[in-house]
Amino acid sequence: MAEMPFRRSMSRQEEPNSLGRGVMLLLLALLAMAVVTTVLALRARQAAAQIERQDAINVELRSHNNLLIDLLNAETGQRGYLLTGRAHYLQPYLAAMENLDARLAAVLQLYPQGQQRQDLQRVRELVSLKLEELTRTIALQDAGRAEQARAVVLSDAGQRQMDELRSLLGSTMARLRAERTALTEQLGRDAGQTKLWLLLGLSLLALFAALALWQVLSAGRRLRVAEQRMRSIADNVPALITQFDAASRLVFANAQVSKVYGLTPEALLGKTVAEVRGEAAAAKLQPQIDRVMQGQRVEFESSSTIAGREHHFQQSYVPDVDADGAVRGFYSVSVDISERKAIEARVVASEQGMRAIADSLPVLITYLDAQLRLRFLNATFLEWLGIDPAAALGRPLQEVIGAELFAQREPRLRQALAGERQQFELCSTAMGITRHIQNTYIPDQHPDGRVVGIYALSTDITPMKLAEQRLAELARSDTLTGLPNRRQFDERLELALARGRRDADSLLALLFLDIDHFKTINDGHGHGVGDAVLQQFAARLRDCVRSTDLVARLAGDEFVLVLEGLAEAGDAAAVAQKILDAMRDPIDLGEGLDLSVGTSIGVATLRGGTATPQQLTARADAALYRAKREGRRRYAFD
Ligand code: GH3
Ligand code: MG
Repeated sequence: MAEMPFRRSMSRQEEPNSLGRGVMLLLLALLAMAVVTTVLALRARQAAAQIERQDAINVELRSHNNLLIDLLNAETGQRGYLLTGRAHYLQPYLAAMENLDARLAAVLQLYPQGQQRQDLQRVRELVSLKLEELTRTIALQDAGRAEQARAVVLSDAGQRQMDELRSLLGSTMARLRAERTALTEQLGRDAGQTKLWLLLGLSLLALFAALALWQVLSAGRRLRVAEQRMRSIADNVPALITQFDAASRLVFANAQVSKVYGLTPEALLGKTVAEVRGEAAAAKLQPQIDRVMQGQRVEFESSSTIAGREHHFQQSYVPDVDADGAVRGFYSVSVDISERKAIEARVVASEQGMRAIADSLPVLITYLDAQLRLRFLNATFLEWLGIDPAAALGRPLQEVIGAELFAQREPRLRQALAGERQQFELCSTAMGITRHIQNTYIPDQHPDGRVVGIYALSTDITPMKLAEQRLAELARSDTLTGLPNRRQFDERLELALARGRRDADSLLALLFLDIDHFKTINDGHGHGVGDAVLQQFAARLRDCVRSTDLVARLAGDEFVLVLEGLAEAGDAAAVAQKILDAMRDPIDLGEGLDLSVGTSIGVATLRGGTATPQQLTARADAALYRAKREGRRRYAFD
C-alpha cells in the first residue's frame, strides 16, 4: 500500500512500454499463426481435392472393373451360345453392353480431354460395335440362320475388338492406379509438410508467447526495481512526503514522516489529515486541501506541535490527477524549516540588537545602494539632521539631505561607487549646528567586482577639531601670559617682513623688551610673584599697542613687539615711550605688595628692505643691550 504512488506513476511511464511490447509480440504470434493456418487451410483444401480425386479414381476403377466383368460375362455368354446354340445365352451380354454405353457416357464427362478420354471414347465405340454384333447375332439366330450367327461370333474382327477392349480398359485402369498411387504419395508428402508447417506455427507461437511473457516479467522486475529506487529516494529526501486520497486519507508516507511523528508507515496509512496533524492544524489546512483538490498547486507555510515541540513546515500540495484529468487525491511535500525559523528569529533578534547598537552610537551609519538610495540609516539622523530614519528609508540621499549637503559629498560618493574607499573631513551645518564631520565611504563590492552599494560612517569630530585647534594655539602661545610665543613670533615676523618687502612706503619696527632687574623680584619675592609680574607686564604691554600689532613673549623676561605700517622711526619711538610710561606705575600684586617694574627697549626698523627675522631680531637685541648699558628704563635704536 505504501508503494502505491510509485506504482501509479510507473504505470504511466514504464509499464505500458513493456506491456505494449508484450502485446505486440502476442499480436505477431497471432499473425504468424494466421499465416500458418491459411497455408494449412490451403493445403487441406488441396488434400481434400486430392482425396476426392482418389475417391473418384476408386469409383472409376470399380466401374472399369465392372466393365471388365461385364465383358467377361459377355464372352461367357458368347461361349455359351457357341456351345449350345441358344441365343438367350447372349442376353446378359446384351444387357451388360447396353448398360455399359450409358455408364461410359457418364465416365467420359469426367475427362473433357486427354489420353484417358480418347481411350474411353474408343472403348465406347468398341462396346457399341460389340452391341451391334450381338444384336446382329441374335437376329440371325432368331431368323434360323445359326451358321451365319456363329460366324459373326467367331469372326476375327469380333475377337480383335474384344482384345482391344480389354487392352484399352487395362491401360485406362493402369493409368488410374498410377494416378491414385501418385496422389497417395503426394498426400503423404503433403501430410509431412503440413506437420512441418504446424510445427513451425506452434514454434512461432511458443517463441512469441515466451518473448511476450519475458517482456511482461522483465517489466514487472524493472517496475519493482524502480519502485525500490523511488522509495529509497523518497526515504532519503530531507522532507516529509505523503500522499492522500480523495477522502484525505494517507496512502503513502516516507521514512521522514515516520521519524517526525514517531509512527511506522503502516500505522500512518489510512489516517486522515486531522488524525496525523491534529484537529486544529487540519482545520487551518482545510482551505489549502480544498484548493489542491480543485487541481491547484499550493505553496504555504504551516506549523504544528509534535511531541511537545513546535515544528514549522514549508509545504507544497500537488494534485494527483488521473489520466482523465480528475483529481483523485494529492501529494504533500513538507520541509521542516523549524531550524531555519529559529535561525531567522535569532537573526531578527541579532538585527534588532545591532540596530539598537547602531541607533545608540553618536555617529551616522548609512548603507546606500548603487543608485544612492538610503537602504539603512540609524537614529542619529534624527538627532543631527532632523531626518526620520523610517521616512527616509528607500529614498534618494539627495532628496533626504538636500542639494547643498549632497553636493558636498557627491564627488566622494561617485568615487566610492567606482570602488575606491573614501575617507575625508568636511564641515557642514544642519539644524543650526556646524559640525566637523569625518566621513568614511566603503564600497560594497561583490566578488565579481561590481559595487552594489556603499557603507557610510560619519563621525562628528568637532570636539576633536576644537581640541586640535587649542593644542595648535597652545603650541604657538605662551602659557603664562597668553601671548604668542617664540614660534608664533617667528612665523608672524616672517610674514610681516614679507609684507614689508612689498610695501616700501611703510616702516616696520621690532621692539625688543627686557624687564630690568627681574632676577631681584624673583629672588626677593619668590618665583610666583615673578610670574605675576610677568603676567601684569604682558597685559600692560598689550594695552599699549593696537590689537593687530604683534606682542610676544620670547623667553624669561624678554618680550617683543612688531609694529607695521609706521610712517617713520618716530612712530616706533613714540610706542616705546608709551610703554615706558605705562610701566611707570607700580604693579599691584595683592596682599599690599606693589612693585615698580622698569623695562629697557631695543628698537630696530626696516623700510622696504630685505632682512631675515634673525637679522632684525639681532639688531633689536643689540639696541636693547645698548639701552641696558645706558642705564635701563629707556629705549635705544640700533
Ligand atoms: P637685567 O636688568 O640685566 O635684565 O637683569 P635681570 O635681573 O632682569 O636679569 P635677566 O634679565 O638676565 O634675567 C631674567 C630672569 O628672569 C632670569 C630668570 O631666573 C627669570 N625668569 C625667567 N623666566 C621666568 C619665569 O617664567 N618666571 C619667573 N618668575 N622668573 C623667570
Ligand atoms: Mg631682565
